[in-house]
Amino acid sequence: MQHPEHQNRLAASHASQSVLSGMRPTGALHLGHYHGALANWVKLQERYQSYFFVADWHALTTHYESPEVIQKNIREMVIDWLAAGIDPERSVLFVQSQVPQHAELHLLLSMCTPLSWLERVPTYKDQQANLSDKDLATYGFLGYPLLQAADILIYAASWVPVGEDQVPHVELTREVARRFNHLFGREADFEQNIGQCLAALSDFEGEALKQARTAWLESGDLAARDAARLRLQQLAIEPAQRQRLAGWLEGGGRQWLLEPQPLLTQASRLPGLDGRKMSKSYANAIAMRDDPAQLESKIRKMPTDPARIRRHDPGDPERCPVWDLHKVYCDQQTQHWVQAGCKSAAIGCIDCKKPVIEAVLQEQALFHQRAEPFVKQPQRVDDMLHEGSKRASQAAEQTMVQVREAMGLLPRWS
Ligand code: SF4
Repeated sequence: MQHPEHQNRLAASHASQSVLSGMRPTGALHLGHYHGALANWVKLQERYQSYFFVADWHALTTHYESPEVIQKNIREMVIDWLAAGIDPERSVLFVQSQVPQHAELHLLLSMCTPLSWLERVPTYKDQQANLSDKDLATYGFLGYPLLQAADILIYAASWVPVGEDQVPHVELTREVARRFNHLFGREADFEQNIGQCLAALSDFEGEALKQARTAWLESGDLAARDAARLRLQQLAIEPAQRQRLAGWLEGGGRQWLLEPQPLLTQASRLPGLDGRKMSKSYANAIAMRDDPAQLESKIRKMPTDPARIRRHDPGDPERCPVWDLHKVYCDQQTQHWVQAGCKSAAIGCIDCKKPVIEAVLQEQALFHQRAEPFVKQPQRVDDMLHEGSKRASQAAEQTMVQVREAMGLLPRWS
């Protein structure tokens, strides 16, 4: 059990940390998207300052030949975010192309990112092989992981929720930030600045940071370093002071860009109607806001354990995709009923599917309810995204002021 003071510190630290995640505009979302990403976003917005964005520029890296669907897809997808419970008051919801600072940071980072780092990203060659019908021999496709790095670094995101396969992208982002800080972090008057930063702190805070730095650099004391990082996040100081002290704590220079951490999220356990991964392209998806009659019909027609040819043939839930839905949607008692009833042929597949149909209908009723005002007045989606994009732009500009300074560019004339 953690000490209450430690818990308070952690809670305060979470509130001051930010999370960033995005989705390409694919149109209406299905339950795989909800259980694989959106349900997690809803939880994250309770704990962190969250930025959720529509990655429309990323869509162009692979689908630049079909621009006609992007606008419609953006609106449909965002309505499903709102249907899932993403709260635009609490989180910042925006469209990437409405915040041009992403492009500026991408360009500036491209000046100092080795080409080989991009060529070795695992998805680069994989996707070229898998999407052979697309023209992926473009500069945009090679550079998209760097655009992703810019998306993350521009909000000083502490955490990026990703599945296992996306971890190399976060690692690349960390390397890009580290290289940037290494190249531009050694200010001529760095030591003098650190002295001023420490002098501005209370004696207690200053001494605690000095001791932690010594413990980390001389003895490799990870606990001391991590505690000092946490302490630093909670100090009410200017961003520039925080960047200098953060770098000094690690034995380096000013940390202009914050290295993010991957926040591993479990892949969705929800299969498609045929037992394969749920995907629009497999035509096996249940939309988040399906028509109730269609939804019921889709689940009723789902294939089951092939051994249950007749009603009295026993089956095995482990060989049935309906069981995977039970694991997500039904309580323990119902799951026991399914296990026992299927193996003994005490229940039929139609009976077995009923609790799943009820649970999915109930979940979707809430999605329909939340989405309704935006479906009736689509302008509200645009207004909300406009407002979110303004908030995102203000946060992004704060980072760009620093980046331009670090790279010796003139400040922006307003
Ligand atoms: S009883 Fe349920 S778990 Fe068993 S095969 Fe039929 S639908 Fe699947």
